[in-house]
Amino acid sequence: MRIDIVSIFVDYFAPLDLSLLGKARAGGLIDVHLHDLRTWTDDVHRTVDDSPYGGGPGMVMRAEPWWAALEAVTGEPGPAARPRIVVPTPSGRRFDQKLATELAAEPWLVFCCGRYEGIDARVIEAWADDEVSLGDYVLAGGEVATLVMVEAVTRLLPGVLGNAESARDDSFSGPGEQLLEPPVYTRPPEIAGRSVPPVLLSGDHGAIARWRDEQSRLRTAERRPDLLA
Ligand code: SAM
Repeated sequence: MRIDIVSIFVDYFAPLDLSLLGKARAGGLIDVHLHDLRTWTDDVHRTVDDSPYGGGPGMVMRAEPWWAALEAVTGEPGPAARPRIVVPTPSGRRFDQKLATELAAEPWLVFCCGRYEGIDARVIEAWADDEVSLGDYVLAGGEVATLVMVEAVTRLLPGVLGNAESARDDSFSGPGEQLLEPPVYTRPPEIAGRSVPPVLLSGDHGAIARWRDEQSRLRTAERRPDLLA
């Protein structure tokens, strides 16, 4: 998968060199291109913002650098005729595992990281395929939201996780019901008077599977009844 990220703070993406993502990049499973939006400014101050039409506080990201950036990035030879362009914004569709799975099937994604009061609406109208929100709160910029989405999407790509089954068993990932993962344990069998549920030490795989399914349902009913509705 090719991923292009346009931002005025490309240093935010240093974590893409770490852990699973770093390995996936080094191994050629994901091809990440970072672009500084200021490359597409033409004034000495490399200005990317201007005051909002109609007045009001804050600044708005100018359309011209974004237009030029998106023309340049989408005009590069990529793994598809056109990438899918994702704009993080509090006004977007809520990001979830279903959308992560959908994006993981794309050969080429472009993320546009807004700052200030956001990007001139004409850029979004003309270019965005998806406007996506992480949740009902306001971040300072689209960089952290993009990192979240890139991590959730790329861990679903074949070969990125050490054990592909671990993604299949994750919360929200069932083929039918979207359940939460049951509690998990490792050694030692007891700590500070708290023991691992005996069934997990029984070696009875059928009983373990039933216990996990039951715990998954109980936890989902308690914490996220909306998922069962
Ligand atoms: N004035 C905007 C509003 O109220 O909707 C918020 C602008 S925010 C300070 C700057 C940028 O952060 C946004 O353009 C977007 O890229 C990103 N952002 C902020 N909150 C977000 C969220 N919940 N989900 C995704 N992106 C977000």
